[in-house]
Amino acid sequence: RVPKLRVEDLEVTFDVGRGRKLHAVDGVSFHVDEGETLGLVGESGSGKSTTGMAVLRLAEPTSGRVYLGDTEVTGLRSRQLRPLRKRMQIVFQDPYSSLDPSMTIGQQLDEPLKVHTSLSKAERRARVDEALDTVKLSRRYTSRYPNEFSGGQRQRIAIARAMILDPELVVCDEPVSALDVSTQSQIVNLLLGIQEQSRTSFLFIAHDLAVVRLVSARTAVMYLGQLVETGPSARVYDAPAHPYTAALNSAIPIPDPDRQRTRDRIVLGGDQPSPLTPPSGCRFRTRCPFAMEVCAEEAPPQYPIDGGGYAACHLHTHGPQLRGASVLPLI
Ligand code: SF4
Ligand code: MG
Repeated sequence: RVPKLRVEDLEVTFDVGRGRKLHAVDGVSFHVDEGETLGLVGESGSGKSTTGMAVLRLAEPTSGRVYLGDTEVTGLRSRQLRPLRKRMQIVFQDPYSSLDPSMTIGQQLDEPLKVHTSLSKAERRARVDEALDTVKLSRRYTSRYPNEFSGGQRQRIAIARAMILDPELVVCDEPVSALDVSTQSQIVNLLLGIQEQSRTSFLFIAHDLAVVRLVSARTAVMYLGQLVETGPSARVYDAPAHPYTAALNSAIPIPDPDRQRTRDRIVLGGDQPSPLTPPSGCRFRTRCPFAMEVCAEEAPPQYPIDGGGYAACHLHTHGPQLRGASVLPLI
């Protein structure tokens, strides 16, 4: 396995006036292997979208490093970013606003080929047709405009456009969140097929752990700008090692009635605090049912977890070993 994307100690700070700074992303490190999908999960305001934007330099990192293969993305000047656009792409949540309403589908798919390749018109036309095949849309759609398509079809078009240059990395920022449930599963299946057929690495951002588990081998969980847990998706989902992940998990309706009876629910108290004034120590402590004195005093380090990955929670040294939601009390 070769790391395709490496993110080291990434920070993104926004100036919000009167000398106040918002630490949207605060010391985040992770990698994505070639051909791998990493899921990035958290509530809105956790910094997950900003992380995805900063990786692509669509948001400016305040500090830290991002590497795509051997290229240090964070070291590039803005005019050097253009060739990078060929190697890294993004699919946004809202397929309604990410397509240009005044251009046909054919024109929108052709544009990146025109800008970034020296293919002839006929070769580009063939590539556009292939891209439509990949996302299972008819080749006859090239002369149509975005408003002639449903939300799911538009997201297919956005995916075709992101994949048409055979990029090394695609950031998918909540690509199914705006879609109805049956369309969601069609798009998820489409992405699974694309993953199988390409060497592209994906950073798949979502607030829904269940969707992330379907599409990603590993999952990273964010809370208030920091990573609180990472690991193989099955382990993170079945045996969360951080109380926040367990809480996110218990919000997932489980269709299997046996599992529903045995899975305890953790209900989060209170709202997510403002990232302008994060709590001292562990940022989750104001909502954590297990908070101890040490949690206000020391930020928890990342502890290695049985079954793979890490969790930033003092329970792993100062409290009872936390082995997934099933051992947590019902509160
Ligand atoms: Fe809860 Fe403390 Fe763990 Fe934070 S470090 S999640 S407050 S137990
Ligand atoms: Mg977002």
